Amino acid sequence: MADLDRTRVPAAAPLAWEYAPAPESRDVVRFQERYGLFVGGELVDPRSAEWYSTIEPANEDHLADIALAGEEDVDLAVRAARDAFENGWSTLPGSERAKYVFRIARILLERSREFAVAESLNSGKPIKESRDVDVPIAAAHFFYYAGWADKLEYAFPNRRPQPLGVAGQIIPWNFPLLMLAWKIAPALACGNTVVLKPSHTTPLTALLFADACRQAGLPPGVVNIVTGDGRTGAAIVRHPDVDKIAFTGSTGVGKDIQRAIAGTGKRLTLELGGKAANIVFDDAALDQAVEGIVNGIFFNQGEVCCAGSRLLVQESVHEQLIAKLKRRMGTLRVGDPLDKNTDVGAINSREQLERIEELVESGREEGAEIFQPECVLPERGFWHAPTVFTNVAQSYRIAQEEIFGPVLSVLTFRTPEEAVEKANNTAYGLSAGVWTEKGARIFWMAERLRAGVVWGNTFNRFDPASPFGGYKESGFGREGGRHGLEAYLRFE
Ligand code: NDP
Repeated sequence: MADLDRTRVPAAAPLAWEYAPAPESRDVVRFQERYGLFVGGELVDPRSAEWYSTIEPANEDHLADIALAGEEDVDLAVRAARDAFENGWSTLPGSERAKYVFRIARILLERSREFAVAESLNSGKPIKESRDVDVPIAAAHFFYYAGWADKLEYAFPNRRPQPLGVAGQIIPWNFPLLMLAWKIAPALACGNTVVLKPSHTTPLTALLFADACRQAGLPPGVVNIVTGDGRTGAAIVRHPDVDKIAFTGSTGVGKDIQRAIAGTGKRLTLELGGKAANIVFDDAALDQAVEGIVNGIFFNQGEVCCAGSRLLVQESVHEQLIAKLKRRMGTLRVGDPLDKNTDVGAINSREQLERIEELVESGREEGAEIFQPECVLPERGFWHAPTVFTNVAQSYRIAQEEIFGPVLSVLTFRTPEEAVEKANNTAYGLSAGVWTEKGARIFWMAERLRAGVVWGNTFNRFDPASPFGGYKESGFGREGGRHGLEAYLRFE
């Protein structure tokens, strides 16, 4: 005992509490100098002869040249998809299709570091998110839907499910690989072929995915990736030989697409914006709720359609909760997306940063009180400090419009009825969160909240088996789970 006591020399107190930077290596991914379009199993130069540069939002450095697909390129991609659909893919037994989808899932995991680093470089999101959320959940979707491919008759008994044909899929820049997985995995499992357009700011993981398709031996033309901007997306929407459009993005573009395909018989699913209420009752575990609030609005810099961007706090705990939240915000690390200790990365584009800044300015002008923790933002690239607004009225733009950035608006309530009324006072209806120790209250709230997903004592949880989608201006149709299959099937 005495010996042990003698060896207990007190450790020297650290001089600083800084974490080691430990950046993930850029060497795990090598981008080509330029990427053509992935059509019929090959990367081909665009007929449009147009190219653009994709950059790293964290420092505005050039990453690669990317093809900008025109109308003729989209037409070639749709033809390749139709060919693949008619000459083998749609009649392949489900158990055979499953093998390809399963193989893709395996490859995503085997190459997960490369995908995670590429995603963080091109989108600006922290590596701990791309590594622990985007890539594993993307792979999980392929695993999950591989399991359904030979069981469609059991999923829909007596309804004779059939694939739709060629699916045109248009995805945004906030979760480039994950949104690709949400769209491609169920489409392939159901026997469709696809033409997918990533956002022009984040094409790189979709192009790495094209390589994964080749590696999996996927028949040419089953997956086609056409890079480009909004015009490329519009050409997919207009193409007469596309049977279904699946879109994730802004409500404005969603409405344009709905108008464009009205009367054509094309099927449509829309996953649009949100302005979720994260509701904290006075009996909630407040420290746990603070973590949920931080995750709800600062995960992926708040560039999340289901972000908990409106915090509704019961009046009796408002002061206490906001003090805790401000303290917690002071510990958030903003900076290099490739540093594994970073909590808040770069905003995806200059355009998005300007949109966020404009809305923050409107919040100040309308009279809300702003708080930002002290943090030094990098000089190059697109950055925004974590921000919380208190004294927010329901009519303020920051309480109504989707900011899509690390900006939280706080409102208060007294009764559960008032919380429901305020939470539902929005044009959107994608998600909500409820924090309380009473399970019965969570169910009571969930029944009344007009939101596609309601989380209880947690936030931003995603599972391939669970359907996701909105009400009202957040769109229609569900992705994920058995519901997600229905969007890619017709019934005889
Ligand atoms: P968009 O809706 O413009 O972009 C989504 C996708 O649609 C992108 O691939 C885009 O291409 C494409 N697209 C753009 N115009 C058309 C068109 N006319 N026809 C077909 N496809 C088109 O979103 P933004 O990038 O402009 O973001 C604006 C706002 O939208 C954000 O601030 C946020 O509020 C919301 N948003 C919501 C998302 C969600 O997950 N629900 C995701 C992204 C944005 P390209 O990017 O190449 O222009």
